[in-house]
Amino acid sequence: MKSHHSVIIIGSGPSGLTAALYTARANLAPLVIEGFEAGGQLMLTTDVENYPGFVDGILGPELMDTFRKQAQRFGSTFITEDVSEVDFDSRPFKVFVGEDLYTADSVIVSTGATAKTLGLASESRLMGRGVSTCATCDGAFFRDQPLAVVGGGDSAVEEATFLTRFASNVTLVHRRDQLRASKIMQDRALSNPKIDFAWNKVVTDVRGDDKVSALELEDSVTGEKKELDVAGLFVAIGHIPNTSLFEGKLELDPTGYLLVGHDLTNDWSPGSQLATRTSVEGVFGAGDVADHVYRQAVTAAGTGCMAAMDAERWLEIQGH
Ligand code: NAP
Repeated sequence: MKSHHSVIIIGSGPSGLTAALYTARANLAPLVIEGFEAGGQLMLTTDVENYPGFVDGILGPELMDTFRKQAQRFGSTFITEDVSEVDFDSRPFKVFVGEDLYTADSVIVSTGATAKTLGLASESRLMGRGVSTCATCDGAFFRDQPLAVVGGGDSAVEEATFLTRFASNVTLVHRRDQLRASKIMQDRALSNPKIDFAWNKVVTDVRGDDKVSALELEDSVTGEKKELDVAGLFVAIGHIPNTSLFEGKLELDPTGYLLVGHDLTNDWSPGSQLATRTSVEGVFGAGDVADHVYRQAVTAAGTGCMAAMDAERWLEIQGH
């Protein structure tokens, strides 16, 4: 494996692999350091019905495999390991994978975000089989069935409200007796006749053999346990952007998301117009690592394309 590359892409979800496809087709022969958990969050889903181009839907892992093969076809190379350290202080940039050093004229950061989970063995066993971290993606699979959402922030309340379009009813399970969500979102949920609230309740088990059938809930005040019959559990307790590698090296927002484009105050002309630029000239960001709002495969792919075009344009300006 050669050690210097025009472009190194860190991460291999929809954004990283789209960036790989575009930079590969621009003859930049990108190196994708795809990580041990290659493929990103879609690897944890079953059917994907909202990615355009697949009339009958496609399985998440199959979709990512297709993305990867397409990027490979045009000359992307892959390392299936995690990046251990980066040095963006000077160019060429340095990217370490254990003892191995790779250098690059430009880097695209597409390390994604990880949905927080409850940490139950049954939750992970039934992930994609009734347990989901994305209501927009999976809500429509549960027409006229009872659902639960766990969490008490804006995401949980928004997801519960959204899911009432499909579900027979939605129970919002929250570990306290007060929501963290903004007042307006709370009011909307509290007045929605299809939403019930299970206050002071902790999900202690997800029941079901090959798909979710019920939850075991424990009252956090009395310790009492009860079962709630549901066909699906949506876990909406927050996301963690995968940016620990970049702390102190790239500008992040207070919650750890990578800042890109207009959110940045510095101006590195001639690249200041580029929507995916980061605080370091020549480093670009794409996908959920820089997006706490949309978080969709198709939006991640879109920003991956943008980062590739930005990197390509920037490299050309630099005379590479
Ligand atoms: P969040 O505000 O951090 O809320 C997480 C919720 O999950 C909290 O209610 C928390 O309970 C609960 N929780 C955390 N860990 C848990 C666990 N292990 N078990 C059970 N419950 C757990 O996260 P978020 O709702 O994803 O929102 C993130 C940010 O995005 C916020 O700034 C939010 O305002 C914003 N957002 C905005 C919108 C919108 O405006 N449309 C939509 C979505 C998100 P506690 O309350 O007890 O801590």
